[in-house]
Order: sequence, then structure tokens, then C-alpha cells
Amino acid sequence: MATVESVTGPLEAADLGTTLVHEHLLARDEAVAFQFPQLGTTAGDPVRAVPTDGAEQVAIDCARAIVERGVKTICDPAAMFLGRDVQFMRRVAEATGLQVVAATGIYTYDHLPTALMTRDADAIADLFVHDITEGIQGTDVKAAFIKCAADEPGVTENVEKVHRAAARASVRTGAPIMAHSRPLSDTAPRQIEIFAEEGVDLARVQIAHCGDSPDPAYIESLIERGVWAGLDRFGLEMYLPFDQRIAAARALLERGRADRLFISADYCATIDWFAPEVEQQMLDAGMAIDWSMNIVLDKVLPALREGGMTEEQERTMLVANPVRWLTGEPL
Ligand SMILES: [Zn+2]
Repeated sequence: MATVESVTGPLEAADLGTTLVHEHLLARDEAVAFQFPQLGTTAGDPVRAVPTDGAEQVAIDCARAIVERGVKTICDPAAMFLGRDVQFMRRVAEATGLQVVAATGIYTYDHLPTALMTRDADAIADLFVHDITEGIQGTDVKAAFIKCAADEPGVTENVEKVHRAAARASVRTGAPIMAHSRPLSDTAPRQIEIFAEEGVDLARVQIAHCGDSPDPAYIESLIERGVWAGLDRFGLEMYLPFDQRIAAARALLERGRADRLFISADYCATIDWFAPEVEQQMLDAGMAIDWSMNIVLDKVLPALREGGMTEEQERTMLVANPVRWLTGEPL
């Protein structure tokens, strides 16, 4: 049986269990956290300010809550510019028993530091391959997948370079890819095209945030290219209201697409994007409702069951699909 690298070592694929494929134990810009730690970060609902060095306890609390609900594993797609810190992740995993699968990659909508502007896609692929085969940040923790992103600016020159680097690292190592997409900007078709041009096995590509589209036909058109679709932002009303997310998911299940879908929340235990008072205003305006690492277990699955989701479909999306995407082999 195949194994999957985690922050506490390789896991038997059969031991992944119920898996949330897109949750963040930490989401912050590492440069801001290093240079201006006094800014701190925020957590939760109600919003509270958290000092930079207090983020670990918040992540532990989030991890414990999902473990109590039966989640065994998360994939944490923190990459460069999302504060990826595998020692932090390992401490959270050891404190809670949650299995945490880490990524390599770069989370950028365009910006790259000079050190990567002056290097080509192959040199960036070398960095990703190092994380997958040698270990991350001087540890022996290995990345199990590769993260890249395209958002409102579209597939810019820099974003394309990161995608080609991710693709080449995938071809060289067999590691799967998770690509952040923006349905409103229709980024996914071009992202998929780049992966195909580079010879990536599209059955190992997960397009994240497909569930921000209310249109099941749009999501299905991506699945028909051979990729996986992430319905992974439940609770983030600012991108699409919960009821519309559920309606699209139900339609896809009715069309027999459970074997290409993921359910997650893209929750961030802490996030440094907004000042606490701004985040509170956003919550007050209804931009996120019940957004938490618990929302899949507490609210999404009950709504889908009520809509006719079978036990088999549920197990497919939460247990079998993560194994197939991560290893390329059926459970
Ligand atoms: Zn995310």
C-alpha cells in the first residue's frame, strides 16, 4: 500500500481516514510576521487579536475540535507567503494526534522575490523537488503535494512560471498539485492547460475553490478535463453563500461526480490579513458565517445528507478521494 508523507512521518494511505484536504493551521505572511511581529494576527468568531507567538495554541484548539469530531487528517496547503512552518505544524500534530500533510509551493497572485525573478521555472522546480525528496526548512518533514495559485490578476508571467515549476516538480516526483483558482476570473482552464502542456497527469491535479462558482456545469466542465474539484470554502459567504454552495454540491452528487470532489472549508486557525476591527466589520456584514474548521462536520455534511447524499458518496469524498489524489492509487 502506498504511503503519504506527513509532518510526523509517512502514513499508510489506509490510515488517512476522514480527511479535510484544505485547512490552514497558520496563514500569515512570513515577512510581515518576522519584520513587524507587533501587528499580531487574528482568530475566530468572535474575532480576537492574537500575538504572533500565540497562534500555536489557537491552532491546537482548532485541531483538537476536529479530532473530537472524527477527522483524522488535514492537508495544510501553506506555502511560501502563507507562513509555512513545518515545525509549528509538527508541534500541533504531536499535541493533538491530528495527522497533518504539508505542501511545498508558492502562494502568489503575481509577486515574486528577486531571488525567484532571476531564476527560471526549472530552478524553482528544484526547490519544490528538494522539499518533496529531502525535507522542508532543514527538517526531515517532506512535502506531499505542490501548491500554486492564480487569482484576480489571472495567469500572469510570474504565475505561469510558478505553475510550470509546480508541473515539472510533479512530473519529476509524482507529487500531486493543488492549484488555487478563482472561478469569477475563470483562471482554471488556463491553469489546467499549462499542467497538460507540461505533461502532468491531470488525475493528480486538484483545482481549489471551484465551489466559489454557483454553477455545477462550470465545475463539471473542469472535472471533465480529468482534474479534482475543491468545494472547499464553506462558510466564506463573501465568495458564495452557503446555500448556493450546498445546491451546487447536491447537483454534482446527483450527476454522479462524488468521485472527483473534495469538501473542506479553507479555514485559517489564525490569519494576519486584516486588523481585528476590520475583520469584525466583515463578520458583522455577513462576509463569513459559521466559518470554522468544524463547519464541514457540523453543518455541511448534515445539509448534504438531508439532500440525499449517500454514505458511500460521503466516504468517497472524505476518505477515498484524498488517498487517490495524494497517491494516485485507489484506497
Ligand atoms: Zn487556502
